[in-house]
Amino acid sequence: MNWLLPRLLAGVMAMLAGGVIGFIVSNAEQTLLWRVLVGGGAGVAIVALLDTLRGYRLINWLRGNQDQQAPRDAGFWGELGYRVERSIRLREQGLAQERLRLEQFLSAIEASPNGVLMLDENDQIVWCNSVAADHFGLDPLRDRRQRVTNLVRAPAFVAYLQAEVHTEAVNFPTPRGNGVLSVLLRPYGEGMRLVLSQDITDRERNEAMRRDFVANVSHEIRTPLTVLAGFIETMTHLQLTEVERKRVLELMTQQTQRMQTLVSDLLTLAQLEGSPRPAADRWVPLAPLLAQVEADARALSAGRHLLTVSGGTGVQIAGSSSELHSAVNNLVSNAVRYTPEGGRIDVTWQELPDGSGELAVSDTGVGIEREHIPRLTERFYRVDGSRSRDTGGTGLGLSIVKHVVQRHGAELDIQSEPGKGSRFRLVFPAARVRVAIEAA
Ligand code: ADP
Repeated sequence: MNWLLPRLLAGVMAMLAGGVIGFIVSNAEQTLLWRVLVGGGAGVAIVALLDTLRGYRLINWLRGNQDQQAPRDAGFWGELGYRVERSIRLREQGLAQERLRLEQFLSAIEASPNGVLMLDENDQIVWCNSVAADHFGLDPLRDRRQRVTNLVRAPAFVAYLQAEVHTEAVNFPTPRGNGVLSVLLRPYGEGMRLVLSQDITDRERNEAMRRDFVANVSHEIRTPLTVLAGFIETMTHLQLTEVERKRVLELMTQQTQRMQTLVSDLLTLAQLEGSPRPAADRWVPLAPLLAQVEADARALSAGRHLLTVSGGTGVQIAGSSSELHSAVNNLVSNAVRYTPEGGRIDVTWQELPDGSGELAVSDTGVGIEREHIPRLTERFYRVDGSRSRDTGGTGLGLSIVKHVVQRHGAELDIQSEPGKGSRFRLVFPAARVRVAIEAA
């Protein structure tokens, strides 16, 4: 109210001053009252005009975007302008803070590894993060306000949105058809709905692999067990000659060995998957390792192949001796098993110009068709199942090799031509290879 008194005083002063001036300047023919009234009225009119001008300036400022300061007048209009401006600035500050908070909130949702899609009561898209856009094949800006079921037409998704209860998530193929999405719906606000999506392609693939693995292991174990059970029954109920008995026991031993090899390979795989990577500063001398592999291969080949081993003297590889032995042994025993009698098998080591090292196992065996090569390292993948089993294979050898290679930061390269032979190369990075300075 500090503007009221000065304003009243200004009015009274203007009236008085106007009255006095009117009295002095008017001619004597007019009455005194008339002269004072006309003078006072003129004074008040001047004050009203000034007031109107100030009010006009304030209204003009209010009509604009209020970027500039409000007109700084004294008195009534000054205080009004100041208070209006202050409340506008406070509201602007509040809005800026709200906007910042909203942006922080949205960028937190944006950072989520899961998709978040907000739908209004008509299932129109209100907002979605980029993960959801990717999952559902949406454009976050262009598709705003669009009905989601017009854009995502997967029947399972549409049925799920229309269902009454959404306690469980629903899985359906991604719109691009190269994966699986898991979607969960949660209501919020008034009729709004939040769609949370997760790409479960890897999880599903792992689950399928696990199921296949269990089925394969069961199958691999059941076959020798069935054979053994048959032999036991035969021996229990039939009188066998000494020759027959020997033959049956031989076959039983073979089946038992097959199961032993399978279990041993399974344990090796489990160990490879469950243990930390081999140390990069544990140096394994290659020569004794190759000598051991050569001895095993000669025993397996029993003189049916021409076998050579070259290179590797003084070379050391950083890693696990048993794992490296297992990998090379698998490659060489495969070469023996898949190379017909009279064939040639060469195991070579050479340092490459960039410091890395290559251990290659080449054979002149049956070879492998091109389309099988990418799948050879899958567990239980066999090109020729009966040949593999007949020669004591488990279908796990190259899977073990792949694990060992990965754990040593190395690479496995397979080249093969059907009928001509195969070449399996293990390339170890320079950091894991060193050539020891030979003692004089
Ligand atoms: P397996 O115990 O059956 O030999 P592996 O995982 O070692 O299993 O090999 C997978 C498949 O790759 C084999 O079944 C075989 O068909 C093929 N294979 C592996 N090594 C060779 C090779 N040197 N020559 C031809 N085929 C091979």
